[in-house]
Amino acid sequence: LVRIEGVHKFYGSHHVLRGIDMTVKQGEVAVLIGPSGSGKSTLLRCVNHLESISAGRIRVNDELIGYRERGGKLHELHVKEIARQRRNIGMVFQRFNLFGHKTALENVMEAPIQVKGKDKSSTKRRALELLDRVGLSERAYHYPAQLSGGQQQRVAIARALAMDPELMLFDEPTSALDPELVGDVLNVMKDLARSGMTMVVVTHEIGFAREVGDTLTFMDGGVVVESGNPRDVIANPQHQRTQGFLSKVL
Ligand code: ATP
Ligand code: MG
Repeated sequence: LVRIEGVHKFYGSHHVLRGIDMTVKQGEVAVLIGPSGSGKSTLLRCVNHLESISAGRIRVNDELIGYRERGGKLHELHVKEIARQRRNIGMVFQRFNLFGHKTALENVMEAPIQVKGKDKSSTKRRALELLDRVGLSERAYHYPAQLSGGQQQRVAIARALAMDPELMLFDEPTSALDPELVGDVLNVMKDLARSGMTMVVVTHEIGFAREVGDTLTFMDGGVVVESGNPRDVIANPQHQRTQGFLSKVL
């Protein structure tokens, strides 16, 4: 479903992604780990074209993301086209960034109504279902400030799912949470994975990677150092840098 080929990204003269290749099949969970500054967030942001890329190709469902190609050259798509592609790709960030003046339910209903122009009653029904799915049916009428960090993050997941994305990107969704709140969020992500959602997850939760991941990719310095079956990579890392990193997070 996702094909990343030879992707480079520069910020000015700073070469942040140095030729990334990665594929994620339909229904797979790809877990991405690596030290701070290795380019994990940048890569995720390129996948839904929150960032432009400097070279390479990113395809989701065989469609080039952010660009059209003509004569071997990439031309950036019109903003409307980019918005259409993004609707198909849900993203959950480290910080929950919900709308503070809207209830959990209103947060989940916002995009389908504003962006897709859906009618209110069916959107509400579906939003309540999604809140139930993330274990928050009792909190539908609470405002973000009345919810714990873990509950807010689960609302953020429900909000992303409300757009019926084909692909979900998670950028350290639990790293801003108190330890006792992490499990509920990971459980929601596990259920989502079990339901067949294709996911790319940046996380340092190695237990999640082992249990839920189909692949584990270790990035360092803007390159993929190694990638494989999570159990193999964890038990038997092939590179010194991977070993060093895993010994710190395990
Ligand atoms: P972390 O684990 O800390 O989240 P990361 O692997 O997600 O790290 P990125 O956020 O992708 O790393 O950053 C990779 C590199 O790109 C870093 O050196 C960072 O300083 C740089 N960088 C990221 N965003 C920008 C930006 N908007 N402008 C310039 N440099 C940036
Ligand atoms: Mg990051």
